[in-house]
Amino acid sequence: MLSIDSLQVTYGGAVEAVRGVTMEVPDGTVVAVLGSNGAGKSTLLRTISGTLRLHRGRVDAGEVRFEGQTLTGRDPGQIVRQGIVQVPEGRRIFGRLTVEENLRAGGMGNRDRAAKAKARERVFDLFPVLKERNTQRGGLLSGGEQQMLAIGRALMASPKLLLLDEPSLGLAPRIIGQIGEVIGEINRQGTSVLLVEQNATMALGVADLAYVLDVGKVSLSGAAAELARTDEVQRLYLGHG
Ligand code: ATP
Repeated sequence: MLSIDSLQVTYGGAVEAVRGVTMEVPDGTVVAVLGSNGAGKSTLLRTISGTLRLHRGRVDAGEVRFEGQTLTGRDPGQIVRQGIVQVPEGRRIFGRLTVEENLRAGGMGNRDRAAKAKARERVFDLFPVLKERNTQRGGLLSGGEQQMLAIGRALMASPKLLLLDEPSLGLAPRIIGQIGEVIGEINRQGTSVLLVEQNATMALGVADLAYVLDVGKVSLSGAAAELARTDEVQRLYLGHG
């Protein structure tokens, strides 16, 4: 579904953030990308969603393809219309707008009213708390609820592939568990997911496949359950040993 081939990305012509990454998100799967700060995870998502240029980044070599078509060089709006929607790191919901208005903003590019109504129903099924708090301002929600709203807003565009940038950031363990479960449910409903995470326990728990990035390169990859058993992942990302 999504394939990244020998991708190289630099910022300002100097900082090599991604140095020859190849990876696949097969249709219908959850794929996790792990790695420490500065490994290039956010850069990878920016490249896929077409927002790299806003950060003064550039693709130097390689390609991103989605359903057989190249995404490299497309603008963010085109990429959303092709079915890829990103939930940015730090949530970035509209704090002054209500929950309902935030969701409506997410569905704006979607002209199909029936699809939009269905997406809204799906969001309220996944996150009943958003229905309860529909008329409240986004800024008044808890951190976990804001993350749910950010995911809900992205789902309003009915994506085929959802890109999640560190959804667990700053949340309590119990809430992180809920977010992990909901990612699994979103996937079972037919949406593929590329999940960038520092919380390896959550990410490997929900993912089918995983990649570990280390200073811009893939250092490990494979089935998530197998990766979780490797010494490197146990030691560096799961805090054992
Ligand atoms: P984090 O979890 O801290 O966001 P990350 O794995 O997502 O880390 P990136 O943010 O992709 O890593 O950063 C990869 C490299 O690119 C780092 O060396 C970082 O300093 C650099 N970098 C990221 N954004 C920019 C930018 N806008 N301009 C210059 N360098 C950047």
